[in-house]
Amino acid sequence: MTNPNRISGNHGDYDELARRALTNEAPSAEQARWILEGEDVDLLPLLHAAYRPRFEHFGRRVMVHVLNNIQNGLCPEDCGYCSQNKDSDAPIRKYPMKSDDEIFAEAEKAAVAGASRYCMVASGRGPTLERTKRLAELVRGIKQRHGIEVCLSIGLIDDEKAAILGEAGLDRLNHNLNTSESHYARICSTHTYADRVATLAAAKRHGISSCSGLIAGMGETSDDLVEVAFKLRELEVPSIPVNFLIPIEGNQVQEDHSLTPERCLRVLCLMRFVNPTAEIRVAGGREGNLRDLQSLSLYPANSLFVEGYLTTMGDATRDTYRMIADAGFEVDGNSDHPGPFALDADEPDGGFHLPGRGGEILKPEIAR
Ligand code: SF4
Repeated sequence: MTNPNRISGNHGDYDELARRALTNEAPSAEQARWILEGEDVDLLPLLHAAYRPRFEHFGRRVMVHVLNNIQNGLCPEDCGYCSQNKDSDAPIRKYPMKSDDEIFAEAEKAAVAGASRYCMVASGRGPTLERTKRLAELVRGIKQRHGIEVCLSIGLIDDEKAAILGEAGLDRLNHNLNTSESHYARICSTHTYADRVATLAAAKRHGISSCSGLIAGMGETSDDLVEVAFKLRELEVPSIPVNFLIPIEGNQVQEDHSLTPERCLRVLCLMRFVNPTAEIRVAGGREGNLRDLQSLSLYPANSLFVEGYLTTMGDATRDTYRMIADAGFEVDGNSDHPGPFALDADEPDGGFHLPGRGGEILKPEIAR
């Protein structure tokens, strides 16, 4: 009799991973490590196996999220991957929380652009009670005006604040675990992994869905990535952003050179197999780390951000929509607003296009 946990690198193993995921059974620890480390892993069969549960739960749809950094910098915490941390020398513009009018205007822009969800992110350890009440009013207002789902990422919160936000109708609270518990102290010293887990638990107790993920490429081992994947499963997190470190000059955590495009795809596959029903988002750093293999990320992942990240640029929205369409997927946007970024019916599918070249074809030294 064959051992279903056995790894031998043949096609039966990919089928076994898919079979487990389709019945919401996690891979064994040995299988999880093989996904990341196996020298006999073939990328395309692995991606195809990860695509099966992705298709089962999300079809070929891709959820599109827009981030609004409503307060930047000025943070007392020391998360070493973040250019807003108190010790970072990154040249970022610091600003206190934007005005309500500005936030409402930006929410409208995102809704009209076709985003299915609007994510507001504020730097800092966590909001005061007064700030929490203001955020609750913003959540109420945006939902009433646009019928769009709202997500907040505002640092640590307790039960009292979670109750206020839950009552306002907040759909999701983002708070990333980022890495394994044992690796956490190497990336941050001003709060603990347990603080982060407690925030997710408080949100859940008050009916707010959690969004929590990781950042790969911060000097962690494969075992750290496996551990955080299983921790997110244990916490039943329905939305998992998978970030790949963006090495920002001036930050304490710099790239560990582990992130090849293939490694990124294996990490996304791991997250899909361990969390088969979750929304897996290919998040920060997708452009620079996946490079030419970006569109393959849509096989394990069913969600992404457009218009860049908190402090860094990403691909132009239109290029991302084109990448989604070219790979045979479709945007699962806000049906009230297909958005000016959606590809028009009158835009031909075929055609020559050099991304990032602004329509220029001839080399500058050749052009007259
Ligand atoms: S991740 Fe959040 S808490 Fe940590 S330094 Fe950045 S803004 Fe502050």
